[in-house]
Amino acid sequence: MIPVTKPFLPPQSEYQAYLDGIWERNWLTNNGPLVNELELSLKEYLGVNHLLYTGNGTIAIQIAIKAMELTGEIITTPFSYVATTSSIVWEGCKPVFVDIDPATCNIDPNKIEAAITPQTSAILATHVYGIPCDVEAIDRIAKKHKLKVIYDGAHAFGVKVKGRSIFSYGDVSTCSFHSTKIFHTIEGGAVFTTQPELLKKMAYFRNFGHDGYENFNGVGINGKNSEFHAAMGLVNLSHLPAILQRRKEQSDTYRQILSGLRVTYPDIQGIETYNHSYFPIIFSSEELMLQSKKALADHEISARRYFYPSLSTLNYTEGDCPISDQIAARVLCLPLYHTLSDVEQKMIARILLRVQNN
Ligand SMILES: *Cc1c(COP(=O)(O)O)cnc(C)c1O
Repeated sequence: MIPVTKPFLPPQSEYQAYLDGIWERNWLTNNGPLVNELELSLKEYLGVNHLLYTGNGTIAIQIAIKAMELTGEIITTPFSYVATTSSIVWEGCKPVFVDIDPATCNIDPNKIEAAITPQTSAILATHVYGIPCDVEAIDRIAKKHKLKVIYDGAHAFGVKVKGRSIFSYGDVSTCSFHSTKIFHTIEGGAVFTTQPELLKKMAYFRNFGHDGYENFNGVGINGKNSEFHAAMGLVNLSHLPAILQRRKEQSDTYRQILSGLRVTYPDIQGIETYNHSYFPIIFSSEELMLQSKKALADHEISARRYFYPSLSTLNYTEGDCPISDQIAARVLCLPLYHTLSDVEQKMIARILLRVQNN
């Protein structure tokens, strides 16, 4: 059985070493020392000045929306995980979908302005598969129309744009450290901003709005994370260079052994420190994709339709996104995780080529 992904687990002894400290201190959550240490280590690793570690990547987006007091319509991408859209809806705003650029699978900046109305308050875009959005174009549009920008960077850990962390773009960027992501803390996430006032507000919101025991700064939510999760993050961070190296090798291998397969790939040319977090292939037809998925499943290999369906098909909004619909119908993410072997990759390639050449 080959799953589409398998969480990275470090040697158990490395995690155990952190548990000893937790038992000694008897401090399990509420902004403990390991949470602080993880935040410091992440700032250093990513080269950012500010971040807040959160319970997951979804609450990170919701805290960002809340902290900027966004209302009305938020322009977003239909090609993402459902959490991008659901966060908008849960914060009482209306998602307005703008179609994607077929080359990168990210929101197409050329189509954003036509979707702006007097009700638009922000743009929420996802760096799909870790491929950076056109952050400069989006920034220009946002400035011109006085809109806020949030980037859902759940896939983009470690990626840089123009020498800077991708998380330094937008008013707020978010990340997910869920077990299936390239860097994980079991559950977890983060918000990033370079604006001190916004950072302060999000810090209050992460902890119910508490300002000390008896005062409240607004009404927040429980967006905290625990010492146990932070410990997993600290251990995994030390393995990240090896994880990224292996991902790159595996992606190169796939490209090589799939060279006879008539599929296309999202464009990763020229990305600085790309993280190879997923391996999506886009078939020429939905039928061929479904046949391939089934052939893999018959060999107990699970490939996933990331992302399907296109979120514009959810009930919440109008919006006509034919490119997103087409790519969502034809895309398949192949298994990719640290312990996936060359032999397994070759088996996957053989099955896919057999389907095509039948
Ligand atoms: C994983 C993911 C999220 C949600 O992150 P969680 O930590 O699972 O809440 C949000 N957006 C995208 C694009 C994701 O892939």
